[in-house]
Amino acid sequence: MNRPHSLEKLRSGQVFDLLVIGGGATGLGVAVDAAARGYTVALLERGDFAGGTSSRSTKLIHGGVRYLRQGNLKLVRTALRERGLLARNAPHLVHDLDFIIPAYGLTDRAFYGLGLKLYDTLAGPLSLGPSRILNRPETLKHLLNIEPTGLRGGVLYHDAQFDDARLAVTLALTATDHGAVLLNHAEVVEFNRDGGRITGVLARDRIGDRNLSIQARLVINATGVFVDGLRTLEDPAAAPLVSLSQGTHLVLPRSFLPGASALMVPKTEDGRVLFAIPWRDRVLVGTTDTARPAPEVEPRALAGECAFLLAHARRYLAKAPSAKDVLSFFAGQRPLVRGKPSTETKSLSRDHSISIGPGGLLTVTGGKWTTYRAMAEEVVDLAGRIAGLPAKPCITAGLPLRASTPIRPGSEPLHHRLPYFEAEVRRAAREEAAQTVEDVLSRRTRCLLLDAGAASACAPRVAAILAEELGREDAWIAAQTAAFQKLAADYIYPAN
Ligand SMILES: Cc1cc2nc3c(=O)[nH]c(=O)nc-3n(C[C@H](O)[C@H](O)[C@H](O)COP(=O)(O)OP(=O)(O)OC[C@H]3O[C@@H](n4cnc5c(N)ncnc54)[C@H](O)[C@@H]3O)c2cc1C
Repeated sequence: MNRPHSLEKLRSGQVFDLLVIGGGATGLGVAVDAAARGYTVALLERGDFAGGTSSRSTKLIHGGVRYLRQGNLKLVRTALRERGLLARNAPHLVHDLDFIIPAYGLTDRAFYGLGLKLYDTLAGPLSLGPSRILNRPETLKHLLNIEPTGLRGGVLYHDAQFDDARLAVTLALTATDHGAVLLNHAEVVEFNRDGGRITGVLARDRIGDRNLSIQARLVINATGVFVDGLRTLEDPAAAPLVSLSQGTHLVLPRSFLPGASALMVPKTEDGRVLFAIPWRDRVLVGTTDTARPAPEVEPRALAGECAFLLAHARRYLAKAPSAKDVLSFFAGQRPLVRGKPSTETKSLSRDHSISIGPGGLLTVTGGKWTTYRAMAEEVVDLAGRIAGLPAKPCITAGLPLRASTPIRPGSEPLHHRLPYFEAEVRRAAREEAAQTVEDVLSRRTRCLLLDAGAASACAPRVAAILAEELGREDAWIAAQTAAFQKLAADYIYPAN
C-alpha cells in the first residue's frame, strides 16, 4: 500500500464500480471480495484500518458457544464454516486453541459436554478437533492457576484465535494486490448526487489536508457503529438501524494463566460469557456487554465493567489478580442490529443486516469478525446486481491471504517488555500504510494493548523512526509523541 499512489488513482477521475466507506472487518472484506472478482474498488477509512471495533475484539475466530445456547444454529454453523476457511486461507494469522470450561456444579460436565458435541457436529469436516470431557486432574493440568476448590472436572473444546488488527492489515494488503485502491485517514463527509441518486462521495484526506471527490456506480456504507450517521446523511428521516453494546477487556501478565489453554466461563452471574485467553505472552480477560447511547471513536471502559471483570477473574483464578496487575485495558463497541426497544444488548442477534437507502446507499452492519467473508460475499453479490455490473463469481472461500514480509534479523527491540522490533515500525510505514504513532503502537504492533506503560515509553523512538520514513519534522515528532502518550494514559489502569 502506497499512499501517494492511492491518492493519484483516487484523483484520476476514474468511476469505480464500488466505493466502500469504512476500513474495518466488514469494509475490508468487501474490498477483497470485489477486487478479487475483478471489479474496480475504492475504500476510504476515516482513521486507521481496524481503528474502530475491529481492533478491539476478543480475538477469536469462533462459532460462538454462546449463540449455541441462544439456539442460533444458523449463525453458529456459518461461523464454524468460516472459521475453517480462514484457518486454511490465513494459517499465519489464525490458529487452533484449546478452551476449557471448568465444571463446579454436579451436572455442568454433562450439560456442556453435550452442547459441545453439537458444536463439533455443526463444524462438520472443518472441525478443529473433537471436544472431550476432562476429569479433575486433567483440568488442573490444562488450567494451572484454576481455582481448585469444588472443581469436579471440565470440558475441552477447540476454537481459533487470531490477531484482529493484523488480519485487517492483511486484508488491506490482499485487496491492494487485487487492484483495490485503499486510503486510511480519509473521512467521507458528503455524498455526490445526481438528482436523488448517490453517485460518489466527497472525502477529507486528513493527512494531506485536502478534499477528494470520487465517483462510483455504488457506494457501500460499512462503518460499523457509525452506519446510522451516514444513513442520515443520505436520508435525514432514516430510522436508526443499530444498537450499541460495549465490551471491555483487561490484559494481565501471563503468570495468571500459564499453560496453553484458554478458560471459558459459560455463564457469569449476569448471564454473560467470560474468557481468559493466553495472548502474546499475556492473558486477555473479557468481555462485557453494556448498552451505550451513542457511538464513540475511542470508547472508554466504565469503572463497573473493569470491576466486573476483575471480580470474575478472582473467582476463577487461584492466584488472584488485582488492579495493580492490569497492564492495559480497552473497550470496543458492537454494532447490533436493533430489536424491540426494550431488548437487552446481550440477547440481540449477532447476525448482520444489509439494506438499501432511497439514494442507493447500500448499508451493511452487524455480524462478527468471524463471518466477515460470508457477509462480504453476500454484499458483493447484491452490489453487483444493483450496480448492473457483469456477474462474476466470488472466489474468496479459497483465496489465500497475503503474509507480511519478514523483518530483518538483528533489529533493536522496541522495549524490553514488548515482543516487537524497530524494523516492524519501518515495515509498517513502508508497506502497511501506517501514518501515526498510534497506527504503529496500537494496530501494526499491539504494544498499546499488551502493556500501555511500555508502549507510552517507546512512543518518542517510534515517532522518530516514523518521521525518518515519512519525511516529517521535529515538531511532528513532538506532537505525535504527546498525542500517543495522552491516549496511552487512558489504557493504564487507574490503580497503577
Ligand atoms: C468487545 C468485542 C469483542 C468482540 N469479539 C469478537 C470475537 O472474538 N470474534 C468475532 O468474530 N467478533 C468479535 N466481535 C465483533 C467484531 O469485532 C465486529 O463485528 C467487527 O469488528 C465489526 O467490524 P466493522 O467493519 O463492521 O466495524 P468497525 O471495525 O468499527 O469499522 C468501521 C469503520 O468505519 C470507519 N468510519 C466511520 N465513519 C466513517 C466515515 N465517515 N468515513 C470513512 N470511514 C468511516 C470507522 O473509523 C471504522 O474504522 C467483538 C466485538 C466487540 C465490541
